[in-house]
Amino acid sequence: VQTVYPFGGSAAHDDPRQGDKTITGGKGANLAEMASIGLPVPPGFTITTEECVAYLQDGAEFSDALREAVTGAIGHIEKAVGKKFGDASDPMLVSVRSGARVSMPGMMDTVLNLGLNDATVEGLAATSGDERFAWDSYRRFIQMYSDVVLGLDHGLFEEALEICKEDNGYYADTELSAEEWKALVTEFKGIVEAEWGKPFPQDVTEQLWGAIRAVFDSWDSDRAKVYRRLNDIPGDWGTAVNVQAMVFGNMGDTSATGVAFTRDPATGERAYYGEYLINAQGEDVVAGIRTPQYLTKAAREAAGAKPLSMEEAMPDAYGELARVFDLLEGHYKDMQDIEFTVERGKLWMLQTRSGKRTAKAALKMAVDMEAEGLITQEEAVRRVDPMALDQLLHPTLDPEAERHVLGSGLPASPGAAAGKIVLDADTAEQWVARGEKVILVRVETSPEDIHGMHAAQGILTARGGMTSHAAVVARGMGRPCVSGASALSIDRASRTLRIGNHELKEGDEITLDGANGQIMLGIVPTVEPELAGDFGTLMVWADALRRMKVRTNAETPADCKMARQFGAEGIGLCRTEHMFFDAGRIKAVRQMILAEEDTARKAALDILLPEQRADFTAIFEVMAGLPCTIRLLDPPLHEFLPTQDADFEELSDVTGLGVDHLKRRAAELHEFNPMLGHRGCRLGITFPEIYEMQARAIFEAVCDVKASSGEAPLPEIMIPLVATRKELAILKALVDQVAKEVFAEMGTSVEYLVGTMIELPRAALMAGEIAKEGAFFSFGTNDLTQTTLGVSRDDSAKFLAPYVEKGIFARDPFVSLDVEGVGQLVELAAERGRVTRPNIKLGICGEHGGDPASIAFCEKVGLDYVSASPYRVPIARLAAAQATL
Ligand code: PEP
Ligand code: MG
Repeated sequence: VQTVYPFGGSAAHDDPRQGDKTITGGKGANLAEMASIGLPVPPGFTITTEECVAYLQDGAEFSDALREAVTGAIGHIEKAVGKKFGDASDPMLVSVRSGARVSMPGMMDTVLNLGLNDATVEGLAATSGDERFAWDSYRRFIQMYSDVVLGLDHGLFEEALEICKEDNGYYADTELSAEEWKALVTEFKGIVEAEWGKPFPQDVTEQLWGAIRAVFDSWDSDRAKVYRRLNDIPGDWGTAVNVQAMVFGNMGDTSATGVAFTRDPATGERAYYGEYLINAQGEDVVAGIRTPQYLTKAAREAAGAKPLSMEEAMPDAYGELARVFDLLEGHYKDMQDIEFTVERGKLWMLQTRSGKRTAKAALKMAVDMEAEGLITQEEAVRRVDPMALDQLLHPTLDPEAERHVLGSGLPASPGAAAGKIVLDADTAEQWVARGEKVILVRVETSPEDIHGMHAAQGILTARGGMTSHAAVVARGMGRPCVSGASALSIDRASRTLRIGNHELKEGDEITLDGANGQIMLGIVPTVEPELAGDFGTLMVWADALRRMKVRTNAETPADCKMARQFGAEGIGLCRTEHMFFDAGRIKAVRQMILAEEDTARKAALDILLPEQRADFTAIFEVMAGLPCTIRLLDPPLHEFLPTQDADFEELSDVTGLGVDHLKRRAAELHEFNPMLGHRGCRLGITFPEIYEMQARAIFEAVCDVKASSGEAPLPEIMIPLVATRKELAILKALVDQVAKEVFAEMGTSVEYLVGTMIELPRAALMAGEIAKEGAFFSFGTNDLTQTTLGVSRDDSAKFLAPYVEKGIFARDPFVSLDVEGVGQLVELAAERGRVTRPNIKLGICGEHGGDPASIAFCEKVGLDYVSASPYRVPIARLAAAQATL
């Protein structure tokens, strides 16, 4: 196989491997492609990624084939530019740059001006007629080569340059004369000899192989490894190396170098966007030594800047650049991010790639490009990252605003929130009632905090992971939440808290960024979400493509309304326990739990029934005509129990039972491992009255809504945490019995289904049996992940992060479904369920229902719908569409 691919000049560019980024890297493939469509690319060649991998495997040895091919390819460049590498009278110089399959900005190494030595620098001075330029180039080369290839401290060279400037009273590098650069070159060579122990290499071939070696080695540098880990880039890809004839942007005032985007990457506007510098070389633009100038006259005027734009200063080269921009967009059919150089008035292209962009820009470009006929609707849908929509749906922190970051936690629920610190839910409610904005700060949240979470702008907790109570509830309510901030400690007695070494007190103002988990001091200003036309247009296209339905996880009418606005097509999970936590009801719930006699329990349930019915009626009115999965009570009973003496006393008053008696009863209900304890359908089996009351409330509400509006929703009554067919059979019979009674009482009837969650491995394995009872399965992948992995969803934040860092899990399995493990159980249960009941309805309601990678898996398994919290509904719609492409 070919190890080196020449491009530009007379190169053929006809081997498909040359256009394959996995072989020639992103930069190499695009350089060849630009050359093949006739754009001005300095001739060069690409060494394949395969050679890098082989080099690293073979103990840093170059193969003979590679040595031979590089020699030949240098000949290709020499022929194209009409100069010789190492020729003392008219030398050819090259750049050596890395180029992996995907861009890894700033991670790997580059050497410019390679081929200069004590002899060729004189030739360069003579042929360019510019001695100053030649010596400046030579000192740049020594500096870069010493840093990148020889591994010497670049500070030594910078220091020498600084001293020279100081001695002469110069401010900018451009003020140094040829003689001064020449003297500095001597000094630089002295530094090399002193530090490296040998003189600076004069043999240009040795220089070249040194640079190639450095680029290969940089693939395994520490910073590259860290970058790869953070960006899920496999270590065995290797990098390509691009060797290319130098062109010079630093040959005086008719030369320049710049970077540009074919559209504005922040807004998506169709306007050229970028910066350039006259008389400068490559890194000068990004290095920030001189302030770069605008590309277009319009941009310069808009900014009120003085120095001429490229359009004004170099109209010919700019005109050529604009022509190239249009050619590139037409060719790649996407916004391009470009590097260019102008050498004495002639434009050269050094790089092009699809540019990074904000969510807003991604949407605008996708919709605009479809209108321009560049791409199809399908391609437009494919272009937008569903997760990026998150940025658009919540108010976000003003990107221009200053941030004083105190610390950070997990980005548990997106959006920005700012307000005064409050340390308990009641205070939150009181302060909000008097018109304040608050952030509820807790060690962790419990069901009793719900009203405070609702009142607060945002929630901050010291403990808990991405699927902890705080996180799930906050996402459901659309409240920004930062959870598991381990640097946070709260002193309840003094009502103060510490974040790292910052001391704060209740009433102090903080801001949370739910998108990245940052906690900031003071109020950081926000900007409102913009659900403008482009968003709507793209969603219409996505909806036309997707097969799966998208439902929402919601339990209040407000959330249901919002979810419908976001396009939800039903409720996939209504967690009824959230209704029990309401401050006014908890008393009756406690009464019910602690009751020892049926009559006392019945009395408590009679209080709860009309309230539950009202809850359901309000929800069903919003969801009329749509399927609504209502889950019967799930969490362990002791979560509802009183803990404070005052609560016990109050309860004693209503029940007539002594405080000690109540405390003993509460202690009996305590569990060491509640997640595997008395919860889910086990409650229904042991306290059938609870499920009976809930079923009655549901049926009465559906019948009411049907009578008043003429249109009922389709209730799907869901039994949680089922492991056996028998559990479901018993509870289904109970629900059917209640339905019969209610229909008889009300003289009407409605359609309904009874089904179950699949959230235990046994349930997945026994799905064929369980489907004999259940009309639908909803995969509860939060619990299924917890029980399959044996990893607690509440306690895992501490050790899952290192697990992900070490690559044990590619991603947090509570965020993105462990497709190869837990996914097997989902697939198997779906198959076995369908064998028993071919038309069984299948959906997912764990947090994974809002994660694009997990949604792609659901499409593959053929689920009927996914269900996500309201703000994730648009993300799920787009991801479900992409999953079909
Ligand atoms: C689940 O376990 O995936 C689920 C949706 O139920 P919950 O999160 O309420 O336990
Ligand atoms: Mg569950």
